[in-house]
Amino acid sequence: MDVLANVYAFYERYGGMKRVIGRSVCGQPIVAMFAGGKGYPQCVFQYATHAREWVTVLLALAHIRRGVPRGGCWFVPCANPDGVALTVRGAAFLAALPPARRRFLEAVNGTADLRLWKANANAVDLNVNFDADWGRGAANVRSPAPENYIGRAPFSEPETCALRDLTAELSPAATVSYHTKGEEIYWYYGQSGAHALRDGALAAALARGTGYAVAHPEGSCGGYKDWCIRTFKIPAFTLEAGRNEAAHPLGEEELPQILQKNADVPALLAEELWKIR
Ligand SMILES: [Zn+2]
Repeated sequence: MDVLANVYAFYERYGGMKRVIGRSVCGQPIVAMFAGGKGYPQCVFQYATHAREWVTVLLALAHIRRGVPRGGCWFVPCANPDGVALTVRGAAFLAALPPARRRFLEAVNGTADLRLWKANANAVDLNVNFDADWGRGAANVRSPAPENYIGRAPFSEPETCALRDLTAELSPAATVSYHTKGEEIYWYYGQSGAHALRDGALAAALARGTGYAVAHPEGSCGGYKDWCIRTFKIPAFTLEAGRNEAAHPLGEEELPQILQKNADVPALLAEELWKIR
C-alpha cells in the first residue's frame, strides 16, 4: 500500500481547515489537517517521523475522520514524506530522484532493500534532530545513516523545522507523536513538581484508555516530545503503537488492533486536558 498517496488524496478531498506546513528535502509537501472546533484544548498530533513506522499514517487518517468532540487538533499524518516514500516505494522513488541524491541514499543504506529505513532523504533521523539535549542520546550517530544520525545541527532538516514552526505558532495544550512499536507511552523529560504530576496523570489516563504501559526509555533525547516538554512546558507524549511481537515495518495487517486501542486517543486526551484546565 502506498500510504503517502493515500495522505495526499485524503488531503485533496478534505473539507476542513488544512495547510501545507513545509516541504521535505525532496520537495514533497508536509500536510496538516484540522479537526474539531475552537475551544480548549487545542492539540497537535504527528505521525511517521520514522519512515518505517508508516502504518501510523493510516491511524492518523482514521483520527481525522473520527474528529475531536472537545477542542480541536491539528494532525500531521506524515511528518517524513521522503522517508515513507523510500520505505514503501523503494527503487521506484530512488529512480525518480536526482542522481546524486539517489547515489547518496544507496550508499548510506548499503542494500537495495529500504523497508527498514527510518531517516529522511538527508539520512538524518528526525526524532533526534530537535533542540532538546541534541547530540547527547545514547544511540546517536554523527554521520548519515538509516537511523540515529542527529544531523549537522538542531533543526538542520526542513521536516523538523516544519513541526517546530507549526508548534510555535499554535502553542498547543499538548502534543502526541505516534511511533511503532511496543505498546508503550513515554511522557517524561525532566519535569518536576506540578508539571510532573500533571503529565504523569495524563499518561496514566492514556494508559488506561489504550491498555499500553507507561515507560521511561533511558538515554533518549532530541525528539519532538522532548522539545515540546522542554520548550513549552506542556505535556507531550510518544505512543509506541503496535504489538512488540510484530516485525518492522509493521504493515496494514496490524492496523485493526492499533485502531482498536488508539482510535479514541485524541478525544480522550482532549477530555482529560479539559478536566484539569
Ligand atoms: Zn519511531
